[in-house]
Amino acid sequence: MINEIKKLREEIDFHLKEIASADLFEQFKLSYLVKKGKIQELFDKMKTVTPDEKPLVGKELNLLRKFAEEEINKLKDKFAKPETHVPELDLTLPGRKSYHGSYHPVLQILDEMVEIFVLMGFSVAEGPDIEDGFHNFDALNFAADHPARDMQDTFFIKNGNNLLLRTHTSPVQIRVMKSQKPPIRCIMPGRVYRNEAINARSLAEFHQIEGLYIDKNVSFAQLKGTLMEFSRKMYGENSKFRFRPSYFPFTEPSAELDISCFLCGGKGCRICKHQGWLEIAGCGMVHPNVLHSGEINHEEYSGFAFGFGIERVALLRTGIEDIRLFYENDKRVLEQF
Ligand SMILES: [Zn+2]
Repeated sequence: MINEIKKLREEIDFHLKEIASADLFEQFKLSYLVKKGKIQELFDKMKTVTPDEKPLVGKELNLLRKFAEEEINKLKDKFAKPETHVPELDLTLPGRKSYHGSYHPVLQILDEMVEIFVLMGFSVAEGPDIEDGFHNFDALNFAADHPARDMQDTFFIKNGNNLLLRTHTSPVQIRVMKSQKPPIRCIMPGRVYRNEAINARSLAEFHQIEGLYIDKNVSFAQLKGTLMEFSRKMYGENSKFRFRPSYFPFTEPSAELDISCFLCGGKGCRICKHQGWLEIAGCGMVHPNVLHSGEINHEEYSGFAFGFGIERVALLRTGIEDIRLFYENDKRVLEQF
């Protein structure tokens, strides 16, 4: 037994010299100083020792344990893992400022537009961002060789079997026509995607708000009246507007709505490209083929549709000249709105 104690002492001496890290420090304690450690193992063997030997063996064992504890204590400062402690509360420190989030300027404009249309009796509908070729193109009377169907203009989903990121909110028109019966008065806000080079005036993703009205005997005059009413509420009573003939596959006749440039008052500047006018919406009477795609009888019903680009409106309203600033999430920009 005395020999075993000596042997263990040699082992302990050896390991003590080896301690060079917090891990080895912990390992030492686990090997020798816990309840199932090697020193305790020898204590447990005491019952096999003859009564004569017991006092001596007991004394030696106690010395060994004391030695191991003292030695490991000397290394504590160097290797023991620091105990976590809760810092005392310092009431003199300044408080932490809490920051309020706010609505993004683009969404503020979107909300404002939706609110005006809702007051005019329109309801709100939404559709999926990932569309199929039928809803995005075919149903909207796009010719089979229309350039918008090209990979260079549209993001198609890889191996997506004709799935794509919608290039406009117009496919929601088809979904609304199929799910509702006329009269339909609906606006459809949402995010749209185009494979375009990103610069100060255009982005690869942006927002549109689409409008659709279908009933018996809907006229172009009603379309004009609706858009003028909306635009006066949105841009102010004194703004000047004009309708300009245009072309879209899904409307016939088609027009674009311009507002007089409020930076130069119509005299011409960099923003309006010296035209004095800024384009704010496309619109027209819903093409009979589109009504047909939406399963609506085009002999009984007619309708008008329109679409606004939200970022365009947000640029005009905020005076920001670079559209990319809306998506960089720089707090110095966002905090101003
Ligand atoms: Zn101008």
